[in-house]
Amino acid sequence: MDGGGGGRREVVAGELERLRAERQELDIRIRLLESELEAGSAAPASPAGEDAAAGVEDGLCGGGSGGACQTRREFVESGALPADMIYRYSRHLLLPDFGVEGQRKLSRSSVLVVGAGGLGSPVALYLAACGVGVLGIVDGDDVELNNLHRQIIHKEAYVGRSKVKSAADACRAINSSIKLVEHHHTLKPSNALEIVRKYDIVVDATDNLPTRYMISDCCVLLNKPLISGAALGLEGQLTVYHHNGSPCYRCLFPNPPPVAACQRCSDSGVLGVVPGVIGCLQALEAIKVATDVGEPLCGRMLLFDALSARIRIVKIRGSSPVCTICGEKSVFTQEEFQKFDYEKFTESPMSDKSTPSLSLLPDSARVTCTEYKRMIDKGEPHLLLDVRPAHHFQITSLPQSLNIPLSVLEEKLPLLEISLKETMDTSAASDEQPSLYVVCRRGNDSQSAVQLLREKGFPSAKDIVGGLQSWAQDVDPDFPAY
Ligand SMILES: [Zn+2]
Repeated sequence: MDGGGGGRREVVAGELERLRAERQELDIRIRLLESELEAGSAAPASPAGEDAAAGVEDGLCGGGSGGACQTRREFVESGALPADMIYRYSRHLLLPDFGVEGQRKLSRSSVLVVGAGGLGSPVALYLAACGVGVLGIVDGDDVELNNLHRQIIHKEAYVGRSKVKSAADACRAINSSIKLVEHHHTLKPSNALEIVRKYDIVVDATDNLPTRYMISDCCVLLNKPLISGAALGLEGQLTVYHHNGSPCYRCLFPNPPPVAACQRCSDSGVLGVVPGVIGCLQALEAIKVATDVGEPLCGRMLLFDALSARIRIVKIRGSSPVCTICGEKSVFTQEEFQKFDYEKFTESPMSDKSTPSLSLLPDSARVTCTEYKRMIDKGEPHLLLDVRPAHHFQITSLPQSLNIPLSVLEEKLPLLEISLKETMDTSAASDEQPSLYVVCRRGNDSQSAVQLLREKGFPSAKDIVGGLQSWAQDVDPDFPAY
């Protein structure tokens, strides 16, 4: 072809492209500096206490100095958007239904995201990217490796460090022009009022029942709209509580469901992308509420089924006049809220870490993991029954254990009997029934199993306290945790 000439042209074209990109970047920086200069001479800097989340601990303007944030706010208040905002959010501004007005409202709004996990990740990333004025993130946990498949805001480098710090750093990296507020603690009745009152909108991105009730009650007391999402397994749901006549959580569920009906993703699993889908929709609802654009999901609930790729929207009841929290005759006060025991009310823990620990058996029907280990080392004949579901058993198990899930234990007792007999035959030590030990993941199901077995004629059945989790902690640190 045209040999060297073509190569030269490519080099020049590449160089031109690079220079143009550089010029564009310089233009943006020049416009930003010009707008800061103009704003600086137009109005005095407003005191920090005037903005929505002022006074919150370590509230930071992403840029570091705080100057750029103030500049933007002044522009926003004067009605025009500064040049850098026009460039950054140009695709929003081009939307006829959103436009400058929508962006301005967004930049004046403050949103609190409770939970920097699977739901909170996309919520915080999108709200930061889209330019909410103040974004608060509250979470008391640290990043763990088994979070990363769904909590996409965190990186491996942050494992072992605070989730809030990790999430805030990720948001700052996307948009240094918004104000990020880090709340490094678990939201509790004792601190919730103080934190929530500083924000316009609350996003519930948590995964447990007591916190769900607490956040809803708090939002009613402080009259804040609540964007509520949940994701478990392969399903998710979403609604907006306490906004435009929509109910609060207690209107729908005055009494908590029984403990057995409450599953958490640490127990039941969750496909990583499912909270991602619901979290994105929560961010969208928060934007709609903040900007008065569109119809927020009030009085309706969105149900997402990942397996069938179906989204249904069902109508839910309006706010209940007899609701003990938001009803006309409610006498629930902020003082009562601060003293309310949400864990007792729902009979479930607020933290993902603590598991409700049952105590169904006398001490004589239980052994610790270390006692069980000593018995193995002595070579005592016994049968180890693992009552976890079969798909748990496939993840990992102790050697030579027999898997009969608790749900089918009663009907499979004959199988257990045969196995026990085989153990007795091979041991040939005595005629006594060999010991029967029962294990599960955390030591709750195994107790129910031992109770059942003792009733059904297996008096030697004993529970291994704390299950495989304790085995990994106390006996074998290499045993895989899940
Ligand atoms: Zn209510």
